[in-house]
Amino acid sequence: MIPYGRQSIDEDDIAAVVKVLEGDFLTTGPKIAEFEKAICDETHAKHAVVCSNGTAALHLASHALGLTHGDAVIVPSLTFLATANAVRYCDAEVIFADVNPDTGLMEREHLEEAMSRVGDHTLRAVYPVHLTGQCVDLAALAEVTDYHGIRMVADGAHAFGGEVDGKPVGACVYEDMTTFSFHPVKTIAAGEGGTVVTNDEHAAEKMRRFRSHGMIPTPDEGPWAYEMPELGYNYRLTDFQCALAISQMKKLERFVARRWELAHLYDQLLESLAPLVKRPVHEHYDKPALHLYAPRFDFSTIGKSRADVMNELRAHGIGTQVHYIPVHTQPYYRKRYGALDLRGAEDYYRHTLSLPLYPAMSDDDVAFVVGRIKEVIGA
Ligand SMILES: *Cc1c(COP(=O)(O)O)cnc(C)c1O
Repeated sequence: MIPYGRQSIDEDDIAAVVKVLEGDFLTTGPKIAEFEKAICDETHAKHAVVCSNGTAALHLASHALGLTHGDAVIVPSLTFLATANAVRYCDAEVIFADVNPDTGLMEREHLEEAMSRVGDHTLRAVYPVHLTGQCVDLAALAEVTDYHGIRMVADGAHAFGGEVDGKPVGACVYEDMTTFSFHPVKTIAAGEGGTVVTNDEHAAEKMRRFRSHGMIPTPDEGPWAYEMPELGYNYRLTDFQCALAISQMKKLERFVARRWELAHLYDQLLESLAPLVKRPVHEHYDKPALHLYAPRFDFSTIGKSRADVMNELRAHGIGTQVHYIPVHTQPYYRKRYGALDLRGAEDYYRHTLSLPLYPAMSDDDVAFVVGRIKEVIGA
């Protein structure tokens, strides 16, 4: 079976985890700071706050912004649930933005259109998403957010290890914070894990407290003493997960390069299937870190539903996935905000199908996948 995504774990990753298990610290120990430093070195951000997963990272960032009841945040509808849910955890409202139907990315015009729907809420922030690893043009969005004094948190779950305009993804040049996930299907695996990166020291401190119950040690009162001025959570990452992630970071460059090679090979092999299958648009890249390879399928001309194509590929041992169902169509959000007309997101969703992409795939695997697609769609 060739799955749509898969972690690459070697002996040295296993040895790194075992070493921590044999030591003194299972959870918060020296590996936390070591991993945070490795993330800062990679992204060039001044601060990294690691946490239990990418969803917690989005919640930490939302808390650092001070989101509360009456506030609103613009989120592209074409993303994973977590980007929007983090806003709701703070009791703020989500204003769903549309996306470019070819790339799935939110652009300046989508941001401005969503801003016209904020109503009585206080617009506080926008959360652009680097879908599949392609990067949103944050510079273009920043012209709008800077002018209106709103904050920007990029969801970089798909783009860890990439580079845009000479800067690593997460450098926080245009955005206040970027979040990442270290779920096994993402570029590096911690099991579960996430981080927020920022250049804002105050925000980093706030997130460190929020990560561990909102507690502040008060040693003047006694060696046991702490205060909880604000409500926090337990979003800590463990030392053995950090050890795995640190070991994986050493291979990041190789993983990113291999993903791009595979994508490039898909691009070449799929060319003959146009216009039934259109290759993904690759824009805004210096060094692309692709999480997904998601071409656009013209299912109606092919004459088969997406479910049929997926099932037939599965019968050939090929796993595929759909990223994503537009979040504004989920029952929870439909009930809260009513039906929205976001045609770019719905159009992108109708045509997308993510093909297998992970570093351990061989060139032959890619050729096999494309060969079976050819058969299944009758091209
Ligand atoms: C994976 C992902 C998340 C959430 O990360 P978890 O670590 O699974 O909580 C958030 N946003 C996007 C776009 C993701 O792909």
